[in-house]
Amino acid sequence: MKFNNDIRLSSVALFPLNAKGGVSPNMALGQMPVRPALLLKLVDSDGCFGWGEIWSNFPPRANLHKAHLMEDVVNKHLIGASFKPPIDCIDKLRHSLSVYFLHIGQREIFEHILAGIDTAAWDLALRKDNVNFADFMGISSQAQCYASSLNSGDLSDRLIRHADLGQTEFKLKIGFEVNEDVNFVADAASRLPENSHLMIDSNQSWDVSSAARILSRLEEFKLLFAEEPIPADCPVKEWENLASQTDIALAAGENIYGIPRFLEMAEAGVKYLQPDVAKWGGVSGALALAESLPDGCVLWPHFMGSAVGQQAGLAISAAIGRSSKCEMDVNENALRSELCDDALIIENGCVTLPKTPGLLVPPSEDALALYGAQ
Ligand SMILES: [Mg+2]
Repeated sequence: MKFNNDIRLSSVALFPLNAKGGVSPNMALGQMPVRPALLLKLVDSDGCFGWGEIWSNFPPRANLHKAHLMEDVVNKHLIGASFKPPIDCIDKLRHSLSVYFLHIGQREIFEHILAGIDTAAWDLALRKDNVNFADFMGISSQAQCYASSLNSGDLSDRLIRHADLGQTEFKLKIGFEVNEDVNFVADAASRLPENSHLMIDSNQSWDVSSAARILSRLEEFKLLFAEEPIPADCPVKEWENLASQTDIALAAGENIYGIPRFLEMAEAGVKYLQPDVAKWGGVSGALALAESLPDGCVLWPHFMGSAVGQQAGLAISAAIGRSSKCEMDVNENALRSELCDDALIIENGCVTLPKTPGLLVPPSEDALALYGAQ
């Protein structure tokens, strides 16, 4: 598990994308009127390339904002940079630019950018070594996944369709009017296939006392976990307090930055840690977190974006093994289903990682042209 070739970057290309006409999950924090994404392509001095994704789900032009930051600030530090393992590239950027991003008040956005660069650097470094991720890591190429972001409107169809794909966990979006939330979970529980589980995600919309009260009404449905019941940046004491009041396992991670904070949350009673490969740490960060997981905790990658980052999230689950399942949105989004050919076919609840060298199947030229943001 060692990279062999030195890489010297010669260019960076950015691809802000928008897909219209899909279905946005209905979330307590809002909707995605279009599905935005920001991809980047790193190319080295031999013409070898790698693709990554920088998280940009909200607001609708987040992809353009982060593309401008790359072009105005980051790219000049990337071009000419040399590294072997991807984390060396990230460490150098962090050293050069952390103070700048602190000054402009966009430290988390810098983390999104670094995460996307790390993923692209992994894709490039593997392709340069002529090896795919599964062979490099010595793992099975099967990545387990779960069905995410079901709403009440088309619940029944989606449960049936995704159970037919072999998925056995289904995550519901709640965080609206409380009685409607409880009725929705009860309805889903009544339709749930055998040997399956429900989870809920209320997108940070409750305080501790509301969360404790609502979760007590949901305990009878044997939920696998409750995701972000309270804001991710609540003090550890509040997470501990909530964990002590419910039998439902707590989950969080898409709004957590850095291994020390993940470990604090684990200590406070969060059992499902959910880093997002396009938001914090990229592949390197998630694998490092997986190495330091406390007993009783599991790592289930968060993901809600395009096929590029989705493939990276799945690769992380495959690397961790049977204890990990990666999130996959059930809602129609052309940037997930049409961007990278048939890279995300689900069979028996799993996606097969690519056999070709690299981390992921690159986006097609046709799709990039079709979904390019104006
Ligand atoms: Mg979530």
